[in-house]
Amino acid sequence: MRKIFTDFPIGGTFELSADDAHHVLVVLRHTVGDMIQVTDCTGATYECLITRMAGHSAFLTPTHKISEKKHTNGTVILAAGILKSDKFDWVIQKATELGVGTIVPVQMEHCVVKLNDARRKGRQERWQRLAMEAAKQCGRDDVPRIETVTDFSSLVEAYSHVRFVIPYEQETTPLTSVCSEIRTGDVLLCIGPEGGFARDTEIDYAEKNVSWCRTVSLGPRILRAETASLAALSIIMYERGFM
Ligand code: SAM
Repeated sequence: MRKIFTDFPIGGTFELSADDAHHVLVVLRHTVGDMIQVTDCTGATYECLITRMAGHSAFLTPTHKISEKKHTNGTVILAAGILKSDKFDWVIQKATELGVGTIVPVQMEHCVVKLNDARRKGRQERWQRLAMEAAKQCGRDDVPRIETVTDFSSLVEAYSHVRFVIPYEQETTPLTSVCSEIRTGDVLLCIGPEGGFARDTEIDYAEKNVSWCRTVSLGPRILRAETASLAALSIIMYERGFM
């Protein structure tokens, strides 16, 4: 069954989004007095009573908490160079289905798309909505967090304590050779954009500033950036038991 999420912590009575209200009232034919389960942005799930309907709106009151956020064995973070057209949308949707915990869109040197500050905020909101939709459709218990577009040096600064795995087409060591080291704990998978990584300012910079950083190969063929993201993420999630 499709999950219902809120993008805020559930406290008292709240209103469902228009889309969820349509699903609950029209598709599932629920009405005032019915109970439904809703998961909030912290990952906690509540039993909620439909207390009021007004036109196309539905108001819910939580009666009790069913569960807290599930404990995982760490998070897989996907930091990927932003891509043109709808390719990044596809990455967000598929990475959500595979179980990614956080996605960091990165403005890299060789990105074809250049987003100024004003457009970064709008994109983040759109991508977060896509992640929420994908999470509902695939029955996840949580919604991946989509960060605002960041620059490569800020990415390294924010995550230098996390292990970095960087698929790089000039590398020959296969991704599978590091998998035994990343089966638990937080891991950041970093994928370049259409134009690839800048050697000095990105690959060398990460190697210098991140304490555990491995460049790896995804095989002899050069994959499109979106294929590389999903191929590498699939392998890592498989090794971690899709947790
Ligand atoms: N600009 C590069 C070129 O033309 O040679 C290709 C970049 S590729 C389209 C985008 C990203 O996918 C790369 O930065 C890398 O992270 C990843 N990638 C693609 N193929 C790969 C491979 N065979 N091994 C490792 N990483 C790969």
